[in-house]
Amino acid sequence: MAIPAPGAIDCDIHPALPGTHVLVPYLDEYWRAHVLMRGLEHDNYGLAAVPANAPINVRPDWKPATGGAGTDPDLLRQQALDGFDTRFAICNVLHGAQAIFSEDLSAAFCRAINDWVAAEYLDRDPRLRASIVVPMHSADLAAREIERKAEDNRFVQVLVLAMGELPLGRRQHWPIYRAAERYDLPIGIHAGSSFRHPPTNLGWPSYYLEDYVAWSTGFAGVLNSLISEGVFVEFPRLKVVLMESGVTWLPAWMWRANKTWRGIRAEVPWLEKSPADYAREHVRLTVQPFDSPPRADQLQRLLEEIDCDDMLLFATDYPHWHYDGADALPDGLPAGLMRKILVDNALKTYPRLSS
Ligand code: ZN
Repeated sequence: MAIPAPGAIDCDIHPALPGTHVLVPYLDEYWRAHVLMRGLEHDNYGLAAVPANAPINVRPDWKPATGGAGTDPDLLRQQALDGFDTRFAICNVLHGAQAIFSEDLSAAFCRAINDWVAAEYLDRDPRLRASIVVPMHSADLAAREIERKAEDNRFVQVLVLAMGELPLGRRQHWPIYRAAERYDLPIGIHAGSSFRHPPTNLGWPSYYLEDYVAWSTGFAGVLNSLISEGVFVEFPRLKVVLMESGVTWLPAWMWRANKTWRGIRAEVPWLEKSPADYAREHVRLTVQPFDSPPRADQLQRLLEEIDCDDMLLFATDYPHWHYDGADALPDGLPAGLMRKILVDNALKTYPRLSS
């Protein structure tokens, strides 16, 4: 289905760095000298699961004449913003900076990426917003970066990868959540791994097919961890947005988590309600990809099982290949829910869009 109404809020688009060299002007004096001395500006820090040079990394209809997918700001404005008549779109820069082992170098690149996206994208179009890229493996440095960029209201979210060194609920990450909650910034958890561990529960897979299909199980693990560790008890105003998780796994996860919690809730007495209820209150999911069932009545049943109209957020995932282009929403969504997915849910999730 094409977008039925103007003014939608696109919660996941991907401007990409043309190369690491564009970050050099945004590094401070020490890091500029450090990077140039080591020749790091010639390296490509693309995340291995999404190889930037692969032709299938970009939809043919969203492919620039030259350069990589998402590297042309004018084309992004024309295709992702004008093309959908978008009111706001949130830029999520996916980059290996978050996965670098050196915490200091990771933080330096993340700072440079945030300043780059502000200058090259946010300053050029008032419809664009962005997520703060943080060095996730150093909570102190990540919290510091959140505080540095939070004064710019165009940054509306903190961006982390689903699979890192530790499950996301662990207390080592809590300084990040504390800073995010303080500045009304949801935690955007995007599909991806820093590859400290195999991306499947079983070990290292051989093919992208295995890696990609397993992402939804990674997101289920993220929810288990955030809820069981009590993140939403400690940070009652915190929202998390799962990006590219798919949707249809959620009802099965809710059933399984609730059933198990009912049996062994004494293990986690700090939880004041069921895992599904925590998810309904604190967790949001972007709808690209919406792995929706083929028939409208099946979709309706899925939505009834989720039992919450506030959870789904519109996104195009521009410009990636494996998504649905202009057909960004499935057929058969009720009109009231459609309005919530396109606009209202995002405004409630991201307070800074209204400020
Ligand atoms: Zn995405």
